Amino acid sequence: MPECLRIVNGKIHDPANNINGEVREICVQDGKIVEGVSDDATRIDAHGMVVMPGGVDMHCHIAGAKVNLARKLQPEDHRHDVHPATEYTRSGTGGVVPSTFATGYRYATLGYTTAMEAAVPPLTARHVLEELHDTPIIDKGFYVLLGNNVFLYKLLEQGRMDDVRQAVAWWLNASKAYAIKLVSPGCDEAWKGKKNSNITNLDEKINAFDITPRQVIKALIDVANDLGLPHPAHIHCNNLGHSGNYQTTLETMLIAEGRRVHLTHIQFHSYGGEPGKNPVSRAAAISEFVNANPNISADVGQVMFGKSTSMTADAPLAWMLRNVKKGKWINADTECESGCGIMPFSYQEHIYTHALQWAIGLELFLMAKDPWRMVLSTDHPNGGSFMNYPRLIKLLMDSAFRREQAALVNQKALKKTSLMDLNREYTLQEIAIVTRAGPAKLLGLANKGHLGAGADADITIYDEQDDKELMFNAARFVIKDGHLFIKDHEFCADHQGRILHVAPEFEATIEDEIKPFFDNYYSIRFANYAVDESYVAHSQIIPTVGH
Ligand SMILES: [Zn+2]
Repeated sequence: MPECLRIVNGKIHDPANNINGEVREICVQDGKIVEGVSDDATRIDAHGMVVMPGGVDMHCHIAGAKVNLARKLQPEDHRHDVHPATEYTRSGTGGVVPSTFATGYRYATLGYTTAMEAAVPPLTARHVLEELHDTPIIDKGFYVLLGNNVFLYKLLEQGRMDDVRQAVAWWLNASKAYAIKLVSPGCDEAWKGKKNSNITNLDEKINAFDITPRQVIKALIDVANDLGLPHPAHIHCNNLGHSGNYQTTLETMLIAEGRRVHLTHIQFHSYGGEPGKNPVSRAAAISEFVNANPNISADVGQVMFGKSTSMTADAPLAWMLRNVKKGKWINADTECESGCGIMPFSYQEHIYTHALQWAIGLELFLMAKDPWRMVLSTDHPNGGSFMNYPRLIKLLMDSAFRREQAALVNQKALKKTSLMDLNREYTLQEIAIVTRAGPAKLLGLANKGHLGAGADADITIYDEQDDKELMFNAARFVIKDGHLFIKDHEFCADHQGRILHVAPEFEATIEDEIKPFFDNYYSIRFANYAVDESYVAHSQIIPTVGH
């Protein structure tokens, strides 16, 4: 049963409503934030505490086939991190890629109440939804991979833009996705078709097609805007990780021509230098462009030292990493939809490239003039686990700590960045923006990321502490949909969050085009492809909006 709550004496950080540390009451009824509640409501005394909306992770990898393969690939990672059951919660395993239940509980412990799985081929949507169903507490959704989709490539080749729009809307419905994801458009066809090759130029023809990555990017940016999706096209740019790739990133942002677009893990796309040689930082050039163009948003994809797992639809990237590291790895193709690569990895302070990546991520945060458009992420688990967020927050809020840490990394790399010239310290209000208010706004989630009347009652209360890592490591109270489930740092209840998805309208005649393609090229029958409603029984459709 949702409770009636009155939270008193807490310092409220609610940037969407311009409330910056004022002591105010927050009232909750029937799962929503309300103006007032009756006197017999349960009272939470938040004296000495900070009250924020629940955290929103807009880019992570937490469910589905690739995540499950990553779990299987590193059993040693789970053995030392058992997540025991409690009276209220189920057991699981942790490590860099936690099991489904542990993922939900651990996000909740940090005060996060929403997370978006960022890369799902439509063919694996069922698996993803099943795992998301088993990820407790948080609301969640996923982005569907359409940037390497062979059927869409064929329509684009024929210049049939209206049909592209219809087909994308169909695919969003068929997979129950939240947003459109592009991963290095054209790379998987090159990988599949020409022995592990890649595509490096936005104007190069995609293997076996008479189209270019530029056309794919333009089309999907336009479709997301034209359909009025709550979140714009979510793009992993071409040339991830390669020296000199900042040029590709700038070109990709220009393709948007002022329309909304989101660039993900932009840290991995902010490198100068000659291809094949050591990268240098181009964070300043990328920041300058993002700062000057309000249609662009990004999440950082911060690298944190220690264990990580690379998991990506960028198949040639995984092959490149495999050739550097020569450890366990998986490459896989997903029929006509995507490629995939997975590899356990670790970022180390003394390695030039790793130290440079760490510093570039921090530069991007510290140079961002508008924190609403430069969101906190580690591209979990690619740059490191989401469990690193408290430490990352400390790096942003505490310049003395940042200097101490910078002294431990490869100094040659550090000198190729301007990190030591940046003395900015994020405020609590700015942290509230980059971890909840900003991502909620970019996702078009009008009822999340703020504490105004009508918002979902997703609320986190932290003990105010000088050490921000300690402060954000374990929330004192967490409330989801008005339901108190963490009290004095301990779980006192369990909760099932919702699946968030979109359902844009489309013309049914597009199925007459898609079905024959399935009959010819897919391993499963068309009638068995679309995900039915039973997979999203506990869900919420976020409406499209007119543009
Ligand atoms: Zn990612």
